[in-house]
Amino acid sequence: MNDNYPPGVTGSEHAIAGPDYEIESETRCPFVMESGWPCGAPTMEIGFYSGERWLVCYAREHVEDLEPPDPGDDPDRKYDEERDRRILGDERGLRTVDQILWAVILAELLLVAEVLGAFAWVG
Ligand SMILES: [Zn+2]
Repeated sequence: MNDNYPPGVTGSEHAIAGPDYEIESETRCPFVMESGWPCGAPTMEIGFYSGERWLVCYAREHVEDLEPPDPGDDPDRKYDEERDRRILGDERGLRTVDQILWAVILAELLLVAEVLGAFAWVG
């Protein structure tokens, strides 16, 4: 356990484990302080393309749950998501692993074909 996280946050949340996107939010932190006033610090919105998202206040590390966004209400975000998805997809290497496997298989097949061809030629 890491005790540096704010109350109610274990560190294994998606928000901390690694969100799909992070964008600056225009919403000020709504967390109500002991004084009764909202925190009001600048926040980042972090979330997943599945719709889970949070407002994170970096000033005092408050985390607020957000409602899932309306789909298709923000063309810019759609563009960013698509771009991030492509970048993240490459980083995760799913496609790359497939390509490597196929490259290895093809190389072995070519090698076998060459060896067989050489024997056939010599014979
Ligand atoms: Zn705050």
